[in-house]
Amino acid sequence: AKEMGRNNFQFFSEDMNHSILEHLALEKELKEAIQRNQFTLVFQPKVSLFDYSTTGVETLIRWEHPEKGLITPDHFIPVAEETGQIIDIGNWVLEQACRQISSLLREGILPPTAKVAVNLSAKQFTDPNLVQHIRTVLEITKIPPQCLELEITESTLMEDVETAIAIMQEIKSTGVAIAIDDFGTGYSSLSYIKRFPIDVLKVDRSFVMDIPDDKNDMAITAAVIAMAHKLSMNVVAEGVETREQLQFLRQNNCDEGQGYLFSRPLSLGQLHRFLIENKAR
Ligand code: C2E
Ligand code: CA
Ligand code: CA
Ligand code: CA
Repeated sequence: AKEMGRNNFQFFSEDMNHSILEHLALEKELKEAIQRNQFTLVFQPKVSLFDYSTTGVETLIRWEHPEKGLITPDHFIPVAEETGQIIDIGNWVLEQACRQISSLLREGILPPTAKVAVNLSAKQFTDPNLVQHIRTVLEITKIPPQCLELEITESTLMEDVETAIAIMQEIKSTGVAIAIDDFGTGYSSLSYIKRFPIDVLKVDRSFVMDIPDDKNDMAITAAVIAMAHKLSMNVVAEGVETREQLQFLRQNNCDEGQGYLFSRPLSLGQLHRFLIENKAR
């Protein structure tokens, strides 16, 4: 039994070493990525389902790794979240997004009603310096607060509901809007949803994906849109890829859509062209 125990331990330990080493390597690489400016931003348009005008963009981070090429956030945001590096990365994203979009707003290529959405991770959301950082960024980039929207996932908000409400109210006091991201995937109780000061509800892509084949997803999507409207929230459908999905969303009065049907995430230059072409139409 002793032998077995030792073997088991060794096996377990090797396995752990492997993941710890990988984790440490990534942590070190992330540190360098910040210092060496390897992060870039792309912007995915959100469009009105009423007239297809561009209502805003969601900011999405990319990592231009010198050897591995372009890395999507799913591969490093969770590690950055664990190591705490997400605070620096997230602050950088917020400031850069506002800087880059502020020129489009000034040139009138983006209307003053447009919103730049930035994703906030759970660690950032509870960072005591968050609201001060938001205020500073608004000041230095001169972007009007009503042009900024923060996307917070449902699960982040449910970790500690009372604290979440207080932080959200503080954010709202800056004039910045709040969107609840990935709605339907967490475990939020509807009794909390009405207590959160939420401006926008984003229906998760997993519900939109199987429209029109999955009748249950269609029922849930329609019900979520109706509920959000009763609570005076705007509804954005994520991951709209097909005409059928678009038609269903329009029939159910969904306000906005985001997805490959309208546009993939774009570089700032591409976004510039997208907006000008869209305007001409
Ligand atoms: P998310 O916030 O739900 O962002 C939407 C994701 O769906 C993006 O993936 C986007 O490229 C993708 N997407 C958009 N339209 C479609 C579509 O029609 N079909 C499909 N299949 N996918 C679509 P991305 O850029 O890989 O980002 C993944 C996740 O990483 C994001 O999910 C978000 O949770 C996180 N993330 C991205 N940027 C940041 C950031 O700056 N800060 C933080 N904290 N998280 C970020
Ligand atoms: Ca998001
Ligand atoms: Ca989302
Ligand atoms: Ca999602």
